[in-house]
Amino acid sequence: MIDQQLLEILACPVCKADIIYDEVNQKLICTECKRRYPIRDGIPIMLEEEAEITD
Ligand SMILES: [Zn+2]
Repeated sequence: MIDQQLLEILACPVCKADIIYDEVNQKLICTECKRRYPIRDGIPIMLEEEAEITD
């Protein structure tokens, strides 16, 4: 479970846009570039090289 306050301070490292929490897939999705960042052991991995790119 990701804390709402944590979500608010997180931003995409690539474009600095807000991210949304995909609870079903346990991913954080950038609202701008749609990169999907993984969450491992409850910790968001906000790294460009770890992101999955959706087109
Ligand atoms: Zn982005």
